Amino acid sequence: MKAIIDEDKCIGCGTCEGLYPDHFKIENGIAVVVNNEHSDCDAKEIAQSCPVGAILVEE
Ligand code: SF4
Repeated sequence: MKAIIDEDKCIGCGTCEGLYPDHFKIENGIAVVVNNEHSDCDAKEIAQSCPVGAILVEE
């Protein structure tokens, strides 16, 4: 599985970075994926952690 940030939706709140600092960081006010080694379960939890639904999970 692979996480993708929808840059149009991301508000740079930092929740994903705070919860999963190994996978995301905020750059220029938008989250970027720094590591896409997610297990299926983690990826779903990560997608649900974003308050505006900006983290998309792809097969
Ligand atoms: S949790 Fe969502 S809105 Fe907040 S920084 Fe991460 S991707 Fe952006």
